[in-house]
Amino acid sequence: MIQKTTKKLVVANWKMHGNLKQNAALLTDFVENLAHLTHTKVVVCAPYPYLGQLQNLLQSTHIAWGAQNVAKNEVGAFTGEVSAAMLRDFGATYVIIGHSERATAYCESDENVATKFVQAKKHGLTPILCVGETLIEREAGVMEMVVSKQLDTIINAHGAAVFADAVISYEPIWAIGTSLAATPEQAKNMHLFIRNKITNLNLDAANRLKILYGGSVTPQNAVQLFLVENINGGLIGKCSLNAQAFESICHAAEAAST
Ligand code: PEP
Repeated sequence: MIQKTTKKLVVANWKMHGNLKQNAALLTDFVENLAHLTHTKVVVCAPYPYLGQLQNLLQSTHIAWGAQNVAKNEVGAFTGEVSAAMLRDFGATYVIIGHSERATAYCESDENVATKFVQAKKHGLTPILCVGETLIEREAGVMEMVVSKQLDTIINAHGAAVFADAVISYEPIWAIGTSLAATPEQAKNMHLFIRNKITNLNLDAANRLKILYGGSVTPQNAVQLFLVENINGGLIGKCSLNAQAFESICHAAEAAST
């Protein structure tokens, strides 16, 4: 019997957007308008230079913050990299790992992603692992095989127990930034597949794992998606840069979890 995690998680992925002024306006709005949520955890993942700003504006609020990538190494001569320990130093508690935009633009391998995932956990960060298939893979009907292989790289190297208290975000690549979200039915099937896969290996980890949906979530489709079993929240790109849209998505999560 699968025990569902009921509290929703909504994560803003700002990607490479923002500046001090715009960020301050968005964060102030989020703090003001999302304070009353009791069934939804809100997280903002910003570019590295703004972690200090997030720390200043969000500490002692209910909103958590994180980064969009982390180094796979602990410390050392890795120019341009930022370690998990450094993220913790700034009070970050979440980190997005393996986003398809990084896999495509920076040739991030599944092996690298697996190492980063474990590095994040080792330092007390909650990893948000992105998995998902391309349109060609979906049309070929191999989407579950693709996602399964992405998860297997972590499972084979580190065991399924690492998914306890972690987050997996199902992000069909064809849905990211395209205005073409997965249907609730498509998302439902994949989320169930992921939950079952982890359940078969480690029930405790499966019970403590949140599975988000990401890919063109909007205020219009959020309620329908968040009501789907095994969708524990969302990873939000474009709409997280608009206070009203993001807050409306967070309210949809709250409504779906109460
Ligand atoms: C994302 O980048 O993770 C994402 C889901 O983007 P968007 O919401 O813009 O599709």
